Amino acid sequence: MAKKLGIFFAIFCILLTSSFADWNILKEYKTTNSGLKISLKNYCESWRMNVELHNIRDYVVVPQECVSYIAKYMTSTQYKVDSERTIDECILHLSTNCILENDGKDAWIFDIDDTLLSTIPYYKQNGFGGNKLNVTSLEDWISQGKGTALDHSMKLFNHLKELGVKIFLVSSRKEHLRSPTIDNLVHVGFYGWTSLILRGQEDECKSAQGFKAEVRSKLISKGYRIWGIVGDQWSSIEGLPSAKRTFKLPNPLYYVA
Ligand SMILES: [Mg+2]
Repeated sequence: MAKKLGIFFAIFCILLTSSFADWNILKEYKTTNSGLKISLKNYCESWRMNVELHNIRDYVVVPQECVSYIAKYMTSTQYKVDSERTIDECILHLSTNCILENDGKDAWIFDIDDTLLSTIPYYKQNGFGGNKLNVTSLEDWISQGKGTALDHSMKLFNHLKELGVKIFLVSSRKEHLRSPTIDNLVHVGFYGWTSLILRGQEDECKSAQGFKAEVRSKLISKGYRIWGIVGDQWSSIEGLPSAKRTFKLPNPLYYVA
């Protein structure tokens, strides 16, 4: 009996401690600077929205109190709907703003991670944005070719192929990951791109944004008309020269400058 009571008391203490922890977090964000009463969900949703608006930049990890919220969002129907909407706008742009010349110089740029291939399976096992990025561990995972296809992006990818637009894949992944990257892409159904451009040794000191802008510059100098870029990071779409239009997919999990 005494043993049972002991176990009961231990469980009670654990529950009490965790509910106090939750309460403390909620209490911490109960009011905003202006005195507005908000919940933790309000706080985290606002954090995510401001990440997407590019008001919040250069964060190393997702705020600890929002990790479970971000995990929930990234595995939710809402994330899928938001992503699908981005792609629908790409397709609308192609049909309304682009007069394709079909001379082999119409081009479109895709990023890879969390644009064509999802890294959510990796982040699921590695703190869902709450842990500082471990490049070695992420590259180990990439080299296993386990990225899953983002179906919404595949719809655009295949649509561009049908239109005869040349597809360029421009990624911050390093050259040594070329082979597993190709295997992974083809395995999940992405094939028929014109060129896969990864970061060589000479690009390693460049920012992702600088590297990607340079790639665009080279493509334009070869006569390509870049009708659009789609990526999940601002660094994939910002910088000059740009494209006719740029499209940002949602991704609050991490920030790449
Ligand atoms: Mg990406």
